[in-house]
Amino acid sequence: MSRPTKAIIDLQALRHNFMLAQSLAPQSKTIPMVKANAYGHGAIEVADALADIAPAFGVASIEEAIELRQNGIEQPILLLEGIFSTDEVDLAAQHSFWLMVENRPQVEAILNATLARKVNVWLGIDTGMHRLGFQPDEIQTAYDDLCSSHNVSDEIVVTSHFACADDLDNQATLQQIKTFDLHLPATKNTLLTSLANSAAILGWPQAHRDWQRPGYMLYGNSPFAQPQENADQLKPVMCLESAIISVRAIGAGEPVGYAANWTAERDSTIATVTVGYGDGYPRHAPNGTPVLINGIRCPLVGRVSMDMITVDVTDLDAVAIGDRAVLWGPELPVNEIAEACGTIGYELLTRMPARVPRVYR
Ligand SMILES: *Cc1c(COP(=O)(O)O)cnc(C)c1O
Repeated sequence: MSRPTKAIIDLQALRHNFMLAQSLAPQSKTIPMVKANAYGHGAIEVADALADIAPAFGVASIEEAIELRQNGIEQPILLLEGIFSTDEVDLAAQHSFWLMVENRPQVEAILNATLARKVNVWLGIDTGMHRLGFQPDEIQTAYDDLCSSHNVSDEIVVTSHFACADDLDNQATLQQIKTFDLHLPATKNTLLTSLANSAAILGWPQAHRDWQRPGYMLYGNSPFAQPQENADQLKPVMCLESAIISVRAIGAGEPVGYAANWTAERDSTIATVTVGYGDGYPRHAPNGTPVLINGIRCPLVGRVSMDMITVDVTDLDAVAIGDRAVLWGPELPVNEIAEACGTIGYELLTRMPARVPRVYR
């Protein structure tokens, strides 16, 4: 016996979403982003499940990359923020980690390193997000310095990241693409480029280049707030589920939960489900947030506790201890729960704590 709360991870859906990303940009190579424990889905298991079709993986730090290496992932691994200290350059070269290079100290660290083998470099241009990357007028110098270094592999990838690609009406994305194309460094070497995150893969074909970097879409949820033809083909990978552990009848006027922030307006049946904010279910979920009980939408009522929530199941015919509850998954988009809580699905998935067992199917 064990607590019924678990995240079921559908690896077939994951592969489907990868193939969708690949098919939308057939000329591009697709690097799955598996940073932050593969957006909460389990980096090792996700990378394993894609290992035969993914040419490389992307993570946020060398620690995340080493974890994949130590667990048998042999592909190159792109460090999306590059190095955080100079000693990481040699380690990256030894392990075939690819380095994003976003600032002058990172260039200097690579130029000054003593390396047993060359390191593969991705050079970032700030085309308008103003978070990382070289200013457009600095890019040629950075490129030339890296190109002439014996420490750097020949094919440098020039890259940028979009700020607003999830808003399909926002012209800022076209402006970023224009800035990017205008400032590509002059070179006689092969210049490879990479722009697209999930939203751009799905909705901005102008941004499809040599490499694409899908994250959120791989996990089967749309980066857009509105329905979108391509995004609608995604299959959610995670199903967060639990079960009812208590059922009670309460009278009209009776409160439920901490701070008594919900009061029954009619005689009601309340089901207690063993999932709470300690399992990554957002504490800010308001009264009325949908929970699937035996596949039927019922409203959350009362405060989310650490280990439990309460659900109004008055309108269901028969409800019993042990009945299945789904917090999000293929039948209840995580985006919908996130929106009710004033956040995005990215956050809810990524911060899923270790205490929730991941069950791979
Ligand atoms: C995380 C990340 C991505 C993936 O973004 P999604 O919106 O999840 O597809 C792509 N590129 C970079 C540089 C990132 O850091």
